[in-house]
Amino acid sequence: MERREFLKKSGVLLAGTACACALPLLPAAAKSINVDSENTAGKKWGMVIDLNKCAKDCNACLDACRKENNVAMHGDKRWDIHLIRKVTLKRKHPAESPEISVPLLCNHCERPPCAQACPVKATYKREDGIVIVDHHRCIGCRYCMISCPYNARFFNYRENHEWPNKDNTRSSHGVPESCNFCAHRLDKGKKPACVEACEEINAKALIFGDLNDPGSDVSKVIAGNHVRGIREDFGTKPKVLYIGL
Ligand code: SF4
Ligand code: SF4
Repeated sequence: MERREFLKKSGVLLAGTACACALPLLPAAAKSINVDSENTAGKKWGMVIDLNKCAKDCNACLDACRKENNVAMHGDKRWDIHLIRKVTLKRKHPAESPEISVPLLCNHCERPPCAQACPVKATYKREDGIVIVDHHRCIGCRYCMISCPYNARFFNYRENHEWPNKDNTRSSHGVPESCNFCAHRLDKGKKPACVEACEEINAKALIFGDLNDPGSDVSKVIAGNHVRGIREDFGTKPKVLYIGL
C-alpha cells in the first residue's frame, strides 16, 4: 500500500473512531422549555432599540428581565448576572446630546462566534435565530464567553436559591447565561419580558418581532429608520439593532 493511500485510510479510520468515542459523552439535547423552538417555525426574531426613547434612569426592562428569568443579584459585581444591562456612552459631537444610555444584551448574532467556539455544541442558533445555551449539555468551559465580542455572557458562579417565577426554568449553576429573547414566552405567543415592561410604561423604546415578516412592527421600524448594530464591522450580523447609536 502506498504511503499516501495508507495515511488516507488511517485518517478515515481515526476520524471514525473519534466520532464513535465522543458521541456517548454528549448527552442528548434536553427538551427543556428554553432550548427548542416549539411554535416559531419560519420566523426570525429581532429587536430594535430606539435610544431616543430610552431614559437613562429607567430600569423597567432590567427589573422585568430579572423577575422573569429568576436572575439573582448577589450584590457583588463578580457574581451578578446581567441578561440585559445599561451603559452610558459619552458623545463626542457637540451637536448631539452629550450622553446616551444604551441597553446591551445578547445580539443573537446571525453568525455567532460563541456557537462556533463551543466544543460540545451547547451554544447554538435555533431555527428562529435565537442563540441559546443548552445548560444540560454545557460543560462550563467558558469558551463562548471569551469569543463573544460584546461581553454578552455572564458565568453563573454561585448557586441561586431564588426561584420566584415557576413558569420559567430555575437558573443553572456553573454555566454561562445570556439573553434568550425570553424563548419560553415566545413559544407561548408572548413578547420578551423587557419589551412588555417598556410598553407598559409607554416608552416603547424596545420594538420586537419577526424580521422575516415585512408587516411586523420591527420590520416596519427597520424600513423607516436608520438602524445599526453594535460593531457591525465584526461581521457577526447582530439581530439587535439601534436607532440613534
Ligand atoms: S452577542 Fe455574543 S453571546 Fe450573543 S450571539 Fe453574539 S457572540 Fe453569541
Ligand atoms: S461554557 Fe458551555 S456553552 Fe460556553 S463554550 Fe463551554 S460548553 Fe459551550
